[in-house]
Amino acid sequence: MITFQDVSKTYEDGTNAVQSLNIEIEEGEFFVLIGPSGCGKTTTLKMINRLHNVTNGDILIDGKSINSHNIHELRWNIGYVLQQIALFPHMTIEENIAIVPELKSWKKADITKRVDELLDLVGLEPHTYKKRKPSELSGGQQQRVGVARALAANPPIILMDEPFSALDPLSREQLQQDFLRLKKKIQKTIVFVTHDMHEALTLGDRICLMKDGEIVQIGTPEEFINHP
Ligand code: ADP
Ligand code: ADP
Repeated sequence: MITFQDVSKTYEDGTNAVQSLNIEIEEGEFFVLIGPSGCGKTTTLKMINRLHNVTNGDILIDGKSINSHNIHELRWNIGYVLQQIALFPHMTIEENIAIVPELKSWKKADITKRVDELLDLVGLEPHTYKKRKPSELSGGQQQRVGVARALAANPPIILMDEPFSALDPLSREQLQQDFLRLKKKIQKTIVFVTHDMHEALTLGDRICLMKDGEIVQIGTPEEFINHP
């Protein structure tokens, strides 16, 4: 589904962020990128939706280079959840979730139905929360809305960049557990960045360990536990 073919990225200042990445991410897989700060995880993730350009090599989605996709369609088809809670503060929860469906000109009734469905999915009672502003929600609740927003127009791929790391340990553990159930329900291809091995082992179908811009090991959680 997502194929990295010998991908390298050099930033304008000459930093070699990643080198010669070859990765095959399967459809429906929960794929974790892990490694110490600065090893190239975020760069790798952001090249998938072209927030960063590839310097060498190519990334294919369903066999087609990401450069041959229209960039707006590419981004609409890739949900994105960031570490910093990134809801628009002046908009209600409902409006935040509806951004992409609105851009896609969905019918009002379909959007309303979808918002309710998504809030239920991420464990927030729709009638209690949808008219609120982000500041009226806890950090963990806002991040749940962030997940709902990324899922809104039903994109086949979701990118998540340390989505739980800004939360207190208790909310984080709760969200991890809920996400474990959620990932089975939504059946998406998820690429998930973390520096927390416990989180990687809990959530990942496969884990890709990076160091200094290169892949050290790719394997299932069992393989990581048995051959660390
Ligand atoms: P990680 O997500 O694993 O912490 P990053 O992908 O953010 O790693 O960074 C990989 C390397 O690229 C680091 O050396 C980082 O300093 C560098 N880097 C990241 N973004 C930029 C940028 N916009 N310009 C220059 N160098 C960058
Ligand atoms: P532009 O770059 O022209 O503003 P985009 O299509 O890139 O248009 O995005 C418009 C807004 O919708 C942005 O705020 C972006 O973050 C958000 N957005 C786009 N696609 C998604 C998506 N799949 N999931 C969540 N938010 C998205």
